[in-house]
Amino acid sequence: MADDFAPFDPPDWLDREDDLLAPYAMRARRSRGRRRPEADHAFRTPFQRDRDRIVHCTAFRRLMHKTQVLVTQTNDHHRTRLTHTLEMTQISRTVARRLGLNEDLTEAIALSHDLGHPPFGHAGETALNECMRGHGGFEHNLHALRIVEVLEYPYPEFPGLNLTWEVREAMAQHSRRRDAPEVAEFQESGRPLLEAQVADAADSLAYDAHDVDDALGAGLITPDDLTDVPFWRAALERVRQRFGELRPEQFRPTMVRTLISSQVVDLLEHTRRRLQAERIRSVEDVRRHGEVLVGPSPEMLALKTGLEEFLRARVYLHARVQRMTVKGARIVRLLFEEFCRAPQLLPERYASRTARQGVERTVCDYLAGMTDRFAQEEYLRLFHPYHAV
Ligand code: MG
Repeated sequence: MADDFAPFDPPDWLDREDDLLAPYAMRARRSRGRRRPEADHAFRTPFQRDRDRIVHCTAFRRLMHKTQVLVTQTNDHHRTRLTHTLEMTQISRTVARRLGLNEDLTEAIALSHDLGHPPFGHAGETALNECMRGHGGFEHNLHALRIVEVLEYPYPEFPGLNLTWEVREAMAQHSRRRDAPEVAEFQESGRPLLEAQVADAADSLAYDAHDVDDALGAGLITPDDLTDVPFWRAALERVRQRFGELRPEQFRPTMVRTLISSQVVDLLEHTRRRLQAERIRSVEDVRRHGEVLVGPSPEMLALKTGLEEFLRARVYLHARVQRMTVKGARIVRLLFEEFCRAPQLLPERYASRTARQGVERTVCDYLAGMTDRFAQEEYLRLFHPYHAV
């Protein structure tokens, strides 16, 4: 807390940002601030404090046991939503720093980008949205906003994490539900900040690469299956040119590294060219610009699309992944129905909220917060005749 430290006058981060950042970067001193105003911290910018609040919140730690693509039990080293978040955050920081953007803001946005995901990946989200039809629906970006504004409450001075407007805006801008009342206050600002655009690009960059890695690791596909994918083939040629034939222990990580680094280099070059060509010289220019400015070149986009089509057909729709998907969705649906039918089964902390916000939203909050394994356990506790309650 700010009052634990003797205040510097002025805080030392103010000038540091001016020394380091490009003119189109968001500066902490220009932040629209927090819902509940707080005194400046002596040596952390508001965005650094946001980053720390996110890392210390419960929803962040739960990402450890939430499905990215493969369900938790598949093996012990595939990505979970937490490790995906860490990988894409590091890529986001590299790109932000190289472009002269606000690395702290980018980091906070990146670390928070998957906070609102329910258990069992997108299957869980679809199931929860169907359960909530007629009760406001469910979408992970809106739920992330709800987590940081309402559901987490670690601070005595205010509800939620009291994050800056800019970090919350990035969550709201991501939402496909532009009609939702929670999004209204973020509608007028124009295009997302470049820092948010970087996190977005890094998200897709990271999962395209690591989903291939995990699918190979879990034996869902083999390297031979990938030879018709142009992006893989291009990376393979580069790896062979440079290293010749590699042993399996090095082959896969080297291929994945190549998939990542070629995308990062392309993203940096293409984005820098666009910022120059479009004469982007301020945050206002970014806000006013007709299109997103951070992104891959058309050539790289085509390569990524080819790889994503392959992943959809051969990995996301793979029978072993689908078994998890269908089962996860069923667990979510059955838990939802049972808690709505008998809200007295909810833990006290949630049961006390039903009068204020309705049974359905309360059950949805409880379910969305669950990790995969907690949802599976809860299912057994409720439905298995001999399982402890
Ligand atoms: Mg993500």
